[in-house]
Amino acid sequence: MAARGAAKSKKSPRKREKRRFKKLEVIGSTGQRPTKAERVARTVGPGTDPKRVSAILAKLDEAYPEATCELKHENAFQLLISTILSAQTTDVRVNQVTKTLYQKYPTPESLAYANPTEVEQEIRPTGFFRNKTKSIMGASKALVENFGGQVPGTMQEILRLPGVARKTANVVLGTAYGIASGVVVDTHVMRLSRRLDLTKHEDPKKIEEDLMRVIPKEKWIQFSHQLVWLGRRVCMARKPRCVDCNLEPLCYSKDKTI
Ligand code: SF4
Repeated sequence: MAARGAAKSKKSPRKREKRRFKKLEVIGSTGQRPTKAERVARTVGPGTDPKRVSAILAKLDEAYPEATCELKHENAFQLLISTILSAQTTDVRVNQVTKTLYQKYPTPESLAYANPTEVEQEIRPTGFFRNKTKSIMGASKALVENFGGQVPGTMQEILRLPGVARKTANVVLGTAYGIASGVVVDTHVMRLSRRLDLTKHEDPKKIEEDLMRVIPKEKWIQFSHQLVWLGRRVCMARKPRCVDCNLEPLCYSKDKTI
């Protein structure tokens, strides 16, 4: 009995987390003026006053209207594989590798049943190549065996692929299918959402929950692209170029350089 009880309590945080994300998917979905309840739900700290958030979004639109995913891809499958490969490396490096990778392995079938040693050599420059080979081959195999060779279009299904967590799922669903399933939280989004005081958290899941509360749903996809562009071009980790940043009047980060 005690063992069953323990197993139950282990499961519940995951269920609670799932429920929380599900609930957050509803907030801001209408594109209309938020209700009082929505405004309260979106406010997670002084930096997240809806007026301030709107001003930040307007500045991001002004500076990066064309922001998009910088991983080169022609379909959802390629984007999925590129996103898995992008862990702990740059998009430039991934794009160099995938140029030939997708010529050799253009479909989930061809990658799923490839020679792992050959795949390892192809993707070696991206680092962690043995684990990444397992992940991309495992994901391809799961696509073939469980999803008819297609990348599924729901968070629940896509998370069943090996090597795929929320960040990768959000990238693929948002960029390949235009589905706002959440906010992509990578290293740039983590740093910048803290600098802009949109969250106090350090854990990516908690940061995503905060961002889903404060950013209107119709902006989730574009917002993460824009934050990544800002992080790469202006608000770098070590020396942010605040003098070139159009968000400077709204930013009171301790990391500011002016
Ligand atoms: S003002 Fe500086 S610290 Fe603030 S967002 Fe811009 S570059 Fe980053």
